[in-house]
Formats: sequence, C-alpha cells, structure tokens
Amino acid sequence: MAVKQTAGRDALGEFAPKFAQLNDDVLFGEVWSREDRLSLRDRSLVTVVALMAQGLVDSSFQYHLITAKQNGITRTEIAEILTHAAFYAGWPKAWAAFRMAKDVWADDAASDAMARHQKEMVFPIGKPNDGFAAYFTGQSYLHPVSASQIGIFNVTFEPGCRNNWHIHHAKSGGGQILVCVAGRGYYQEEGKPVQELRPGDVVNIPPEVKHWHGAAADSWFSHLAVEVPGEGTSNEWCEPVTDEEYPHSGL
Ligand code: MN
Repeated sequence: MAVKQTAGRDALGEFAPKFAQLNDDVLFGEVWSREDRLSLRDRSLVTVVALMAQGLVDSSFQYHLITAKQNGITRTEIAEILTHAAFYAGWPKAWAAFRMAKDVWADDAASDAMARHQKEMVFPIGKPNDGFAAYFTGQSYLHPVSASQIGIFNVTFEPGCRNNWHIHHAKSGGGQILVCVAGRGYYQEEGKPVQELRPGDVVNIPPEVKHWHGAAADSWFSHLAVEVPGEGTSNEWCEPVTDEEYPHSGL
C-alpha cells in the first residue's frame, strides 16, 4: 500500500515543486511504500537512527519518532534503539534524541506492557470488556475466538484485574474450562487456596462451584474461557474479590 505524504507539497509546493514531488511521490510514495520488501516499522527504525546519527533533532525528527511509534516501535524498543545507536553515532546525539523520544512515548508505559503481552500471545487481546465491567475489578479485554458451536473467548486481564466471585450454574453439563495462553494469573475456588496459573495450564471448573479468576498483581494475563454446553446454563455474579482475599505480593 502506498504511503500518502503531502508534507513536501504543503511546505514547498510553490517554492520548490520538484523537491516537493520527489519528497511526496518518490521518497514516500515509492520507497517508503515498498512494504513487501521492508516493513514500515523497520523503515522507521532505519530513518530514526540515520537522523539521530546526524544530530538532527528538529521537527522532522519528531515527525519520524511519532511515525515510528505509529509503525509499532514500542517505548522499550526506542529506548534500546537509541542506547545501541549511541555507541556508533555519539553519546550527545543520543541525549538529544532521548529528550524528544521521552515526550513522544510519554504516558506509554502501560500500553507498552500491553503490547509486550500481545507479542507473547497468538490470540488478539480484543476490545475492552465493557459488557462485563460491572463484574470485574480493573480493566479486562475480550476477544471472541469461537462464537458458534461452543463459545470460546480470549479474556485478558491487566495486572491486578480479576473477576468477581461467580458461579456457572447448569441443570446438567455446563461449567467452564480455562486454557491459559499468556502471562501469569490466579484461580480460586471458595474455601480452597489460590492457585497460580501459567501459559499451558488448564482449569476445569465444575458447574455450581463459586470461584474467581484473574491476573497476578504484577503481570498481564490471558486465558481462553470455554463455555461447556449444558442445559439451563446461567452465570451468577457475586461480590468482588477483596484486597484481603487477592494475593497482592504473589503466592
Ligand atoms: Mn468462571
């Protein structure tokens, strides 16, 4: 897909039409657009390092930092890229670049952790789980993996997030299976100790058993929730898991 760029014509279209055309149509329209040869993310990485190496920290550098962020370079990655480049391009140039990068990736620590969690997992994090927000402490996300035959949902919990105590009711069959896919989390049945969950762990939750599940305090966590078919199935949402019940400092 062609990268659309109008900065050349916007700034220099009248004064230097050829330069504007080369900038917009060739540099961006042709070279940046060759995504089948090199991804936009990698092109951003090359560009940021090349500009930083020249000591350029003007508005064009800021533009390329913002673009790099849009193209998927995370806060952790840009810090690593500039640190690495500092040894080859020069320490003061890295200092100058960091001052600008820090602004572009400001307030991005949380979303960066979320991006890293997504990288560890093949299923999408999905959308904010607004429909069930009333039954959760903290932010959760939901992605339907299977919506027919058997419902399978990827549920993602931010650190510290957990659902309320609840019961999967059924007259026959029913219950829920959790298949842990990324991060570290917890599961607890009423009257039993909290159980730690890691990727690959499977929890078989019988119907009529009061329980909760969620992330550890210091980790994102995702599990597939499989709705076991049954007759007369319903969910009963109970009270939140209190700070006393929830293991804040690990197990
Ligand atoms: Mn459950």
